[in-house]
Amino acid sequence: NGLEGADEYFTSYEDLDIHRIMLTDKRRNEAYRRAIESNRDRIEGKTVLDVGAGTGFLSILCAKAGARKVFAVEASSGMIPLLRESCRANDVENVVAVVEGNVETVDLPEERVDVIVSEWMGFHLLHEGMLSSVIKARDRFLRDGGTMVPDVGRIRACLCKVPSLFEFWDDVDGVNLSHVGTAYRTKFQTEPAILALESDDRLTPYVTLVEFDLKRVQDAELAEISKEIVSVPKEACLAQGLCLSFEVELFGVVFSTGPDHPETHWKQSVLVFPSPLDMEAGEAAELKVTLARTENPRRYAIQLSILEENEIEHPLGCECMLPRCR
Ligand code: SAH
Repeated sequence: NGLEGADEYFTSYEDLDIHRIMLTDKRRNEAYRRAIESNRDRIEGKTVLDVGAGTGFLSILCAKAGARKVFAVEASSGMIPLLRESCRANDVENVVAVVEGNVETVDLPEERVDVIVSEWMGFHLLHEGMLSSVIKARDRFLRDGGTMVPDVGRIRACLCKVPSLFEFWDDVDGVNLSHVGTAYRTKFQTEPAILALESDDRLTPYVTLVEFDLKRVQDAELAEISKEIVSVPKEACLAQGLCLSFEVELFGVVFSTGPDHPETHWKQSVLVFPSPLDMEAGEAAELKVTLARTENPRRYAIQLSILEENEIEHPLGCECMLPRCR
């Protein structure tokens, strides 16, 4: 299927710890459960494809909501016996057909389905690259006018405080280790720190970096996401990083992983500034964010630059002496 390291990726999903982490994420489960249970009329009597069924959680919810048939496709072969057993244990083995293989290449007993449901989201939405598989599944199997769940996905950005990576180091049980903090933070300039912020760590309104309409998005649109954004804090502050979070819409149920929502296992992805931006209330920071799919299509390289008024780009960690970079 052209995905490098695909085998390793599917083997990683044989680790039940990963499934436990997902299944103990109440907000994740509840968003899907509420969406499916409150839209029975859109599932009853319908055929459903669950892309990446895992332990069977979503397939079983759809079967219980009255689907005529659910195709539970799963490429991680170690999960297949457990998935079958999940269906038996929940008395839906006659409704759910377990299909082993990649959704890109498997055959289904029926040509088209009415609904595609999937939990494909990774850190900052696109990590793991599973959205490509969902797009392929849609093009192969969704009937005209069929439904995608989720049908919208967006990445949002805001300036933030990151006390655990800044203030923490200034006083480690009475010892000043701020120079260690400075050294430690450099690694999060190109690779986001995955950590859970508090709601008052958010300093500016959210700006949408990109929004995908799952019924229409093409794989080529996932190759590079690049956007110039303007962030304006309400109060004077020290901005310590740019926080990326995502939102998906499931039958209209909005599920958000932003810092002012209760924590999920995705937490937030934070690009950390080498030193804080000292901002006045109402002052605008102009930033450019680029997420570029790498040779390994399951990974993105992220770049953040600060734009000066004369439109010079200063990449994070730039050592020129302009005020923003000092
Ligand atoms: N739906 C389950 C599991 C989600 S994790 C739940 O909500 O709990 C994503 C699952 O999709 C993993 O089990 C992974 O092995 C599977 N997967 C990822 N890409 C796939 C593909 N292209 N074809 C089939 N399965 C895939």
